[in-house]
Amino acid sequence: MDSAITPNTKLHFFMQHTIHWKCDSGHEFTSDPAHFHPALRYTPGDIQRFLSLQSVSKKIILNDYLHYVIPRDPGNGPTSAPGLPPVHLTPSKSCPYSGCRSTASQITCIYTSWPKFLHISPPKEALSNFDGVSIHMSHTLKIPSVFGSNASDTPCVTYELVGRSVFQNGHFTSDLLIPQNGKLSTCHYNDMRGGKLEVHGDETVIDNDPIVGVEDFYAYVRTSDIASVRSDISAIKQAYFDLETAWSKYFRPVYDLTREGAPTVPKSDPSFQRANPHYQLTNNHSMYVNT
Ligand SMILES: [Zn+2]
Repeated sequence: MDSAITPNTKLHFFMQHTIHWKCDSGHEFTSDPAHFHPALRYTPGDIQRFLSLQSVSKKIILNDYLHYVIPRDPGNGPTSAPGLPPVHLTPSKSCPYSGCRSTASQITCIYTSWPKFLHISPPKEALSNFDGVSIHMSHTLKIPSVFGSNASDTPCVTYELVGRSVFQNGHFTSDLLIPQNGKLSTCHYNDMRGGKLEVHGDETVIDNDPIVGVEDFYAYVRTSDIASVRSDISAIKQAYFDLETAWSKYFRPVYDLTREGAPTVPKSDPSFQRANPHYQLTNNHSMYVNT
């Protein structure tokens, strides 16, 4: 979809994952990013793991969620292309050193380069199977430069929310955070209405659904000089194991809470259905795994 965009331009707008390898003989090498990623997308697995292990409520704070996002490779295909394969499951590469007879190489770490301008997809589609769950688009983001680190002295990649694009009546408009009289305000721009900024309110107004139309994507600008996050393979494997564990608890998982912070038997579980024989499970509330 973006073959016309040059690699130099992509460096500013797209996420990249660079894999570091080590062969059995100890040679270290990297493989360049196979794909660039124009927007960060949510995955149900990451959402389920976050809700099961990190969240205390049904409201996900984007800044917290990003600390646990496993590097994934959505590729450059159409948006309907299936799957977001984790980068650490990339098939083994042969060693490029001349004369090396090693047949397999192992991933040691993945470096993720966060772009100057970050696009994040609206969460509604990813949340369609998570009844009552919402994601708050944090106005500032702090992503530790070492995956999984909670140390306060770990440098962070930081971002600020600058606006979002909105699709309405067949064309795109935008909501922008712009200083007005010394305070950030939510301003609306619509080139079909004279191209003048309309002040809609303070900076919290952008947290609401658009007055007209639907949100298309959110735009953040990086405010840190550092831009890369190192994910050691052991930390990613542990996070992925946690994800699969959280996922496997639900044969047909529906994340449900009867009270804040307490995961319960999903309504799709046979034991729930035996106890509640008249409960009708609708398609909107079912999620299928391994099918
Ligand atoms: Zn080698």
